[in-house]
Amino acid sequence: MSIEDGKIDNDLLLYVNDWFKKKGVSLICPMCKNSDWSTFDCIVSPVQMIGSEPNLYGRRYPTISIVCENCANVQQFNAIHMGLAKPDLIKPDDNSQSGEKSE
Ligand SMILES: [Zn+2]
Repeated sequence: MSIEDGKIDNDLLLYVNDWFKKKGVSLICPMCKNSDWSTFDCIVSPVQMIGSEPNLYGRRYPTISIVCENCANVQQFNAIHMGLAKPDLIKPDDNSQSGEKSE
């Protein structure tokens, strides 16, 4: 199972649901106590910040996101920790504008 194409299909949803069960993830919304969630149809990723600016060439953290159907609370789960992505898959090919030194 991987997220290389960035889409969340039925197989991936089954994997995520099984992972939630194995980890004992509660699907009760912490804000409104609803238990009806939907899943984003694609992988999303917060980006690294430099000061107050997003570094579009910096590190990325792909996440599986679910949204409460009642109050719109969004919960994010790190796809790397879920075994769906490898850190080397999310590094940008060209980090020459990030200010980082090449190895
Ligand atoms: Zn809620």
